[in-house]
Amino acid sequence: MFRKFRTNFEMISNDTNNSLNIETQLIASLLVKSSVSKQLQTIAEKILHNERISCDDALVLYEKADLNFVGMLANYVKTQKFGNQVFFNKNIHIEPSNVCVHKCKFCSYYREKDDRESWEYSIDEIAAKLKTIPADALTEVHIVGGCHPSRTIAYYCDLLRLVKQILPHVYIKAFTAVEIEYMAKLNSMTICEVLTKLKESGLDAMPGGGAEIFDEKLREEICPSKTKSNDWLAIHKQAHQLGIETNATILYGHKETFAHRIDHLNRLRTLQDETHGFNAFIPLKYKKENNVLGIERELPWTEDLKNFSITRLFLDNIPHLKVYWPMLGKDFSQITLDYGVDDFDGTINDSTKIYSMAGSVEKTPIITQDEMITLIKDSGKTPVERDTLYNIIAIHNK
Ligand code: SF4
Repeated sequence: MFRKFRTNFEMISNDTNNSLNIETQLIASLLVKSSVSKQLQTIAEKILHNERISCDDALVLYEKADLNFVGMLANYVKTQKFGNQVFFNKNIHIEPSNVCVHKCKFCSYYREKDDRESWEYSIDEIAAKLKTIPADALTEVHIVGGCHPSRTIAYYCDLLRLVKQILPHVYIKAFTAVEIEYMAKLNSMTICEVLTKLKESGLDAMPGGGAEIFDEKLREEICPSKTKSNDWLAIHKQAHQLGIETNATILYGHKETFAHRIDHLNRLRTLQDETHGFNAFIPLKYKKENNVLGIERELPWTEDLKNFSITRLFLDNIPHLKVYWPMLGKDFSQITLDYGVDDFDGTINDSTKIYSMAGSVEKTPIITQDEMITLIKDSGKTPVERDTLYNIIAIHNK
């Protein structure tokens, strides 16, 4: 993995415009000299000297810094890491079923088995869909869904093998830690046995879903039956130890406090220090439609941008910060690219429903590669196509 990062870094360094570095240095010096409080200046100096900020520092940023302050710093850090480049990939989302044994209060997606809005795709139905896709349209198949009450691990292994048979060149990024835990329970297997079997069947990487918020008391309130926080972390640790790279998420904008968000980020940062197995972090905004959590007001966009920025500043050891554009919208997602985000996710060539059922901005989350490149270029950035593990496929700098 380290060799991969070094190779990418060398390609990025060669591509980075020198004047951009000068510009970011100027921004940095302006920040520390401006009329912000001594407390904020001290935090800014830490960031500019590549020192890790503490949980207390992050709380000060949430409570006392304005959006411009954290945004400029986040953009500075992002630019130091990746220059002007913004990553994307060509992927498809497959959701085998929305039938789920859990009933998380914030979830707008799960349905009972006999509900008319439920679906349970067979292997043949998924195969038929995959066969309609030109092989060069994808480098990744992303598979997540509900914890189906009776589908055994054999179904999921068959599905992985089928994807590799139809599209042998793609990476498969599949199954949240919550789905993995349920497979282990249903099949009386250990987590290690489940992950090993899935890997043998074609699993290359895991997404970061199901993390929600780690604070045990709040987790019990919003998703009582779901994988416990320490178990979510232990499953990702086990995956990393087996050579399966993963992502991580947070669900924000519901009942959590700033301290809860920081605690969540800190648990991830601590695990990443140990395993180095997380590739990307994706903040997921709570959407209020069609769920029973009962929160009337979604966070304003200024809070979203601030949250992206502080996340970039705190998670100094997880390389990529990704915006999930179907949830926030293409236009707003473009703006996040100036607030620490370096990854625009993928073309998501499917009618994914997890967020559209919760009231996401984009109702048909499909984008062509050309549109993706144009969106990123219109933001003044250089689009870089990547694979699932962030190996660079093409730099679109013309
Ligand atoms: S959030 Fe996931 S685990 Fe919870 S009910 Fe929805 S699909 Fe099931």
